[in-house]
Amino acid sequence: MASKSRLLVIGNGMAGARSIEEVLARGGGEIFDIAVFGEEPLGNYNRIMLSAVLEGLMDASAILLNPLPWYQERGILLRTGVRAERIFRYARHVVGSDGSEEPYDKLIIATGSLRLSHRSMGSPLRTAV
Ligand SMILES: Cc1cc2nc3c(=O)[nH]c(=O)nc-3n(C[C@H](O)[C@H](O)[C@H](O)COP(=O)(O)OP(=O)(O)OC[C@H]3O[C@@H](n4cnc5c(N)ncnc54)[C@H](O)[C@@H]3O)c2cc1C
Repeated sequence: MASKSRLLVIGNGMAGARSIEEVLARGGGEIFDIAVFGEEPLGNYNRIMLSAVLEGLMDASAILLNPLPWYQERGILLRTGVRAERIFRYARHVVGSDGSEEPYDKLIIATGSLRLSHRSMGSPLRTAV
């Protein structure tokens, strides 16, 4: 049996996690080994409900959409608390803020709405050959 391709997702927010759900729903689990860089420490949560948590109206656990076991049960490698720092496009791997390296065949960048001007100023994603 041929080995699986590597799908790497940068960003474990609503778009990133939803993309993974859709890939799996379409049988992508047979095709891909999946890994995720998620800068935040938890699984995916409903960011729209964040205000209610910050106001103390809801418990944080109530807005989790995909808690950590969800990833483990599906064999997904989730690097929580790790920011993807550099994309090496030709070598096809991404280096995280903890020095970890993840290879990819397909890459999804779902890092939300950080402005490009912010990115160009330093910390976030840079690409290198
Ligand atoms: C309080 C609040 C209320 C909202 N209400 C509504 C609403 O009523 N209706 C509506 O349509 N929208 C609403 N939104 C907006 C909605 O939450 C966003 O549109 C949605 O979360 C965008 O999803 P996303 O996955 O694209 O980005 P995000 O949710 O921003 O997720 C991006 C993720 O990527 C991570 N990330 C970024 N860079 C890196 C990196 N280099 N490496 C690793 N991880 C990285 C971030 O930490 C984050 O977890 C609201 C937002 C907030 C905060």
